Amino acid sequence: MSDLAALLATAEHYLYPNYVKPDVVLDRGVGARLWDKAGRSYIDLYAGVAVSALGHGHPALVRAISEQAAKLLHVANYFHTEANIRLAEKLCQMTHMDRAFFCNSGTEANEALLKLARRHFYNQGQPERFKVLAFENSFHGRTLGALAATGQPKYQEGFGPLPGVVHVPYGDIERVRAVYDSSFAAILVEPILGEGGVLPAPDGFLQQLRELTTQTGTLLIADEVQSGIGRTGRFLAFEHANVQADAVALAKGLGGGFPVGAMVCKAFLKDALPPGAHGTTYGGNPLASAAALAVLETVEREELVPRAERLGRLLSERLTAIAARHPKLVKSERGLGFLRALVLQDGVTSAALIERFRNAGVLLIAAGPTTVRFCPPLTISESDLDEALTIVDRVLGESA
Ligand SMILES: *Cc1c(COP(=O)(O)O)cnc(C)c1O
Repeated sequence: MSDLAALLATAEHYLYPNYVKPDVVLDRGVGARLWDKAGRSYIDLYAGVAVSALGHGHPALVRAISEQAAKLLHVANYFHTEANIRLAEKLCQMTHMDRAFFCNSGTEANEALLKLARRHFYNQGQPERFKVLAFENSFHGRTLGALAATGQPKYQEGFGPLPGVVHVPYGDIERVRAVYDSSFAAILVEPILGEGGVLPAPDGFLQQLRELTTQTGTLLIADEVQSGIGRTGRFLAFEHANVQADAVALAKGLGGGFPVGAMVCKAFLKDALPPGAHGTTYGGNPLASAAALAVLETVEREELVPRAERLGRLLSERLTAIAARHPKLVKSERGLGFLRALVLQDGVTSAALIERFRNAGVLLIAAGPTTVRFCPPLTISESDLDEALTIVDRVLGESA
């Protein structure tokens, strides 16, 4: 048996089989290129699910992690570290928020949002104001609280009963108004559905949610775990609507591949979670903080947010042309900035196409059964993007 076959057999034997993975063992990466153990190379247009914002092996991120690892890995939240303080300042400045809490994943960032909202009203003597309104086809994570908010039965199946969250169709302000009253603690919304199909909020929707919640004091809390850190051509996707949420969940791109999540909020929420009310052992540890700080500084220095907007337009034009050339397979393209998708015709499944793209050297992922998601590193070169899209076009031509 080859080394690779033996490795795959070990995986088959020992790994908990909750993921479906192809027989590919990824080994190393540079920029938007990845190589597997069989020596094949790929252009990465999914960035580990919108995570590897700086691509692979970015020198600034590698240096920050190596230096911090050698200096101080972990102290837990009984003490300050400089990396954590600097990160909090930078993240608040870039999000125009006032306070930052750090955790380890997108799910945890959303848990922090949900607990923040409930505790805010509890502190104000309104413990009965705990309900959360969220949206169908949303994805907020896999812990029981975040899962309760996730508006997709396939993720919730078999895990009930979950804390009650009211779901209405995404983008439908009339349905929001129909169920909404001032007994809600929060409305939780993704400014663009990620896992739920890469669907941007319709024009005016986020503004309308902002007006509704401001009138009644309900919190507007944003899940920008996938859309944040420049991905959509704005630092936060909410900026497209020119409104601000009261608190925002971030993760994915924030660590550029190092696991780190954050909840940032406005000043009026700073006492909602008093000492002891919430916390995490690892959250904001010096290594994670140094990684996230390096990502933010690089996003700023390399002007990756306007770059995502500019290359996102290019990607959109190319995908529109690809959709037009393959009408039997592709219905349309949509998205914001560097979070885009090809929407497939009914009966065409994303999984089958994604396998063909992979065999041809381009890595993509689904966002639902009939949507192929494009969320490349923000640093991808135009020539890598061009080469990958030429391959996508060719594979679709061969698949019709
Ligand atoms: C990925 C994702 C999450 C969950 O993040 P994890 O780091 O996997 O826990 C939550 N919300 C959105 C919008 C996401 O895309």
